[in-house]
Amino acid sequence: MNILIVYAHPEPRSLNGSLKDLAVRHLTAQGHRVQVSDLYAMDWKAVADGDDFQGHDSRERLFYARASKTAFSSDTQRADIAVEQEKLRWAQALVFQFPLWWFSMPAILKGWVERVFAYGFAYGVGVHEGERWGDRYGEGTLTGRRAMLSVTMGGRAPHYSERGVNGALDDLLFPIHHGVLFYPGMEVLPPFAVFHSDRLDAEQWPAIAAAFTARLDGLFTDAPIPFRRQNGGHYDGQQMLKAGLGQGAAGTRLHLLQPGEPEQHPLPDVAPMTASR
Ligand code: FAD
Repeated sequence: MNILIVYAHPEPRSLNGSLKDLAVRHLTAQGHRVQVSDLYAMDWKAVADGDDFQGHDSRERLFYARASKTAFSSDTQRADIAVEQEKLRWAQALVFQFPLWWFSMPAILKGWVERVFAYGFAYGVGVHEGERWGDRYGEGTLTGRRAMLSVTMGGRAPHYSERGVNGALDDLLFPIHHGVLFYPGMEVLPPFAVFHSDRLDAEQWPAIAAAFTARLDGLFTDAPIPFRRQNGGHYDGQQMLKAGLGQGAAGTRLHLLQPGEPEQHPLPDVAPMTASR
């Protein structure tokens, strides 16, 4: 299978660098094809601005989404953006490897998402008409692919538990899981998380490495987070969860299927993935 790792850490000898290297070694040894987007090494342009669009006149007002749509549909995107989109089309699974920085991904990775997930590629996909709000949340360009976050953090596990002072990890990662990865169609696996990572020592590494490779082995078989699909029949025409669904849940957990709820409509034609190469 084809796997893309998007890696965001400035130091190759870091814990994140070690996890990325381990993933490449392990997945390759299992017969997978792996590409790495090493954002710092690539000197990735993290800011979304007018320089993303050929011919943009800096004296003119910039409408970023509109310019993104035009560039995508006319095949005039900057090469760095188009190359990353091609890697996503190639990949059957996507792994983000990053340290939690200020409760989210490092800015360079956020900037990768902002620029690569262009209008027409990751959003603004499908028919938007009446009560049809396009192909998103479980449908879209990246349907059929899987995604997983591999994230390290300084805080301890209890701090990220349901009653922990940092907030539950699932809640903190919801914008990435649901808003970034599920939005353009990917199935999202539960994250691989290394807590209390700043205090990690060599003795703890073998257990962490074993847990990580086990998760990598499940990349194509583990059950994804059961997010409801937008067009699966559970939301009304205003994209509100229908009455009677989500009983007993609150907040972002309303968007998870609950046991005993009605089946969702099956996915329409799942777009075939780009052939392996
Ligand atoms: P490193 O510093 O590279 O390594 C951590 C430890 O692992 C070191 O002891 C190192 O010796 C050891 N190590 C590395 N590789 C190996 C190996 N192969 N074998 C054995 N040991 C190894 N934390 C939070 O919880 N929440 C936040 O919101 C948050 N925000 C932050 C914001 C910023 C700007 C920064 C700088 C840190 C923040 N942190 C936060 C902490 C951060 O998440 C951790 O510092 C980070 O996850 C550690 O990962 P690293 O790759 O940088 O680790």
